[in-house]
Amino acid sequence: MKTKFELADVVRQFGNQLTVSERLNLRQVKVLNSIVSCRTAALGGHEEACDSCGTVRYSYNSCGDRHCPKCQAAKQAFWVDDLVRNTLPVKHFHVIFTAPHQLNDYSGDSAPPFRRNRRHLKLGGFVKQY
Ligand SMILES: [Zn+2]
Repeated sequence: MKTKFELADVVRQFGNQLTVSERLNLRQVKVLNSIVSCRTAALGGHEEACDSCGTVRYSYNSCGDRHCPKCQAAKQAFWVDDLVRNTLPVKHFHVIFTAPHQLNDYSGDSAPPFRRNRRHLKLGGFVKQY
C-alpha cells in the first residue's frame, strides 16, 4: 500500500537534526540510513523476468533492515493473516509481554496453560480471555 508520506521522507527531512539532538549511536544512524536508502537507486536494482509471458520489470533493492517499514510490510501482512486465521471467533484481546527466563521451560506448544484470574494464559503464544 502506497501512502502519501513515508517514514523515509520524515527521516530525510529530520534525520540529521534527530541524530544530533538525541545523540544517536552508530547503530541507530545506520538504521536511519537504511530506511532512507531502501528501494532507491542508492542500493542498486535488479531485473525480474517472467518465464511464462516474458514480462520484465525492474525494481530497486531493499535494505532488509528489520526496522524498515518497507521491508517489514510483507512480513507484517503475513503475520496478521496468520494471526486472523488462527484466532477463535470469540471476544478476546491480544497481549504481548516478556516472561521471566525462569519460565522458558514452560513456553511453547507443549506447555500447560497457566490459570490466573479466570483467564487461561499460554506463554509464547496467544493470551485469550474466556
Ligand atoms: Zn528496507
